[in-house]
Amino acid sequence: MTRPVGSGGRNSNAPLLPVVDPWFRVVPSADGRILRVDEPHVDPLVAANVWIVRGRERELVVDTGLGIVSIDEAVPGLSGRDPLVVVTHAHLDHAGGASAFARVHAHPAEDLVHPRAASLHGPSELDLLGLHDPATRAEVGEWLISAVPHAGFDLAAYEVLPPAETVAIGDGDVLDLGDRRLTVLHLPGHSLGSIVLVDEHDGLLFSGDVVYDDELYDDMDGADPVVYRRSLERLLSLDVRKVYPGHGEVFGPERLAEIVAEYSGEDHTAGPSEPRSR
Ligand SMILES: [Zn+2]
Ligand SMILES: [Zn+2]
Repeated sequence: MTRPVGSGGRNSNAPLLPVVDPWFRVVPSADGRILRVDEPHVDPLVAANVWIVRGRERELVVDTGLGIVSIDEAVPGLSGRDPLVVVTHAHLDHAGGASAFARVHAHPAEDLVHPRAASLHGPSELDLLGLHDPATRAEVGEWLISAVPHAGFDLAAYEVLPPAETVAIGDGDVLDLGDRRLTVLHLPGHSLGSIVLVDEHDGLLFSGDVVYDDELYDDMDGADPVVYRRSLERLLSLDVRKVYPGHGEVFGPERLAEIVAEYSGEDHTAGPSEPRSR
C-alpha cells in the first residue's frame, strides 16, 4: 500500500514521497535457514542486503541496512534475541542499522564508534563518501530514498548512530552458531577494514562489498585498487559454492571467478571511467 504524503520535515527542499509499509523485503532461502532482507525503495547506491543466518544456537546478522527502520520490523524480536551481529564495513548502507543492536562485531579499521556523517541527500552523501567521479554522480538520485516508512519521516534528520558496544574481529577469527562456523577474512580494498565471512563446510561466502555482481567500487575514501585486487584473488583460493553479496543477487563460483578476472584485467591506475555504484 502506498499513499503520497508530505515528508518535508526540516528540509523544505525534501520531496513529497509515498509511504510504504512494510519498509523491508524479506526473502527466505529454500530451507529457511538464511533470510535476505533488503530495502527496495532506496537508490541502487545504497540498496544493500542484510543476511540473517539461523544457527542451532545463535542467529547471525551480516550487515544492518541503512537504519531508516528498525530491523525488528522485518524480523520481529531479532534485536532482542542477542544475535551475533557482524558489520562487513562502516558504509551507511551496511552499518546504518547497527545501533539497533547492543553488541556489533567489526574490523577495528572500521570506526563504528564515531560514525562518519551520512546523508540521504544524494550529492551530499557522495561528498561524504569522497566519490567525485562525474559518471557516478550523474547516476545517483537527488535523494537516496524513493519512499518513506511513515508520514512525517524527516529525510534531513537521518544519521548513523553507534551501537552500544563494538567488538573487534579480524582475519582468522571464527564465529560459531552451533551447527555452522564462519571464518572471518580481512579483505581490504573497498575499505580499510572490509571483511567477509566464510562457511568452509558448506562453501558459503558472505562477501559484503568485497565482491558483488556489478561494478566494484574502488575510488572512495579508504579504497585502494591494488590492495583490492589482492583481496579478490585471495577469494579464488577458497572452495566457494554460493556467494551472498552485500548488494544484488546470490551467485556461484563461476561468476565469482569471472568478476575477479574482469577486475584484475582492468586498468585501475587511470582512475574510474565508468559509472559506479555502491
Ligand atoms: Zn561499501
Ligand atoms: Zn555497499
